[in-house]
Amino acid sequence: MTTYVVSREILENNIRQLKKQAGDVPIWAVVKGDGYGLGVLPLAEVLSEEGITHFCVTDIREAEILRDNNFTEEKILMLRSVSDRRDINRLLDLKVVLTVGSEETARLVDQIAAERADVAEVHLKIDTGMGRYGFLPEETDRVIALYGEMKHLAISGVYTHFNCAFNSKALTRQEFAAFMGVVEAIRAAGQETGVVHCCNSAAFLKFPEMHCDGVRLGSALLGRMPFRTKLHPVGYALTEIDEIRTLPAGHTTGYSALWKAKKDTKIAILPIGWYHGFRVSCQPELGRARDCLRAALSALKQIVFRQKVTVEIGGKPCRVIGAVGMLHCAVDVSGVDCRRGDPVTVQISPLHVKGMPVVFRA
Ligand SMILES: *Cc1c(COP(=O)(O)O)cnc(C)c1O
Repeated sequence: MTTYVVSREILENNIRQLKKQAGDVPIWAVVKGDGYGLGVLPLAEVLSEEGITHFCVTDIREAEILRDNNFTEEKILMLRSVSDRRDINRLLDLKVVLTVGSEETARLVDQIAAERADVAEVHLKIDTGMGRYGFLPEETDRVIALYGEMKHLAISGVYTHFNCAFNSKALTRQEFAAFMGVVEAIRAAGQETGVVHCCNSAAFLKFPEMHCDGVRLGSALLGRMPFRTKLHPVGYALTEIDEIRTLPAGHTTGYSALWKAKKDTKIAILPIGWYHGFRVSCQPELGRARDCLRAALSALKQIVFRQKVTVEIGGKPCRVIGAVGMLHCAVDVSGVDCRRGDPVTVQISPLHVKGMPVVFRA
């Protein structure tokens, strides 16, 4: 059977390393997207054992899972504006800190809290470039006014979310300056900002000067960043060889006949393919000329350096040959001592993993 194995030890080491790097600044662990594919609860439990007490979610269900499983005192921040009455009430029941990114949301949450004779704890979101949720820095006067006008909101934080922290220092510094401008204006107006936070994983690792009062980390916990770090990937797929065959010289394997045997070749067939997340990646946006150029350079590098896709059999890297299919792929096992049923390790990001149970191992 194919499973996705998560190493607790590697996960714990990543958390410890990130905590060390954060120093006194609390980590708000992001467990959105079903805990980045690992499962909200299994991920949160390891985080909790490592002393993490702040969590971020994007779905009510994720908050429910935490609250239903003894995460009763932990801070939970909803990372998006919620504008449905029922959803807001549910989140207030769950004592989730809401995000307020517009005047409309502010009024609605304030009104609902008033109806409940309650006070809603919220963080204000500033849009410094992402262009999704949040007040524009130009609306700072309106933001400041909220502190006085919204009697049923307890504003305990202000944050922004960078859109280019992994690939543009200049833009990120510009966005940080715009964000701090808003923060300082709020303070200058005599209001308390509460927790000021802006870093996701990439910003946290690249810009120590931006850590502020909290950092929101997701992908770094899993040890998968688009640049070199000291963190390690926490998971891999574990499958078994389905069949060993010898293809005669001239025979091909896979759709489009992308690979042809130069000589009689021993190959292994694996029951894993793109459906399971193998060779699936977050596609870079090719909207700008320089992104196209970057993608072309990366493809060229693969050709020049003959970067091979491999899996591991008996501790040896074995090259994947031909196109990876929906549910199968083939690997060249020439000279490798292996047989049907032998375990195979396949690198897949937990973000893409599908169709197999996720198991945590010591
Ligand atoms: C997903 C998300 C994060 C975490 O991003 P990573 O890059 O995975 O660390 C932080 N903040 C917000 C608002 C997010 O949506």
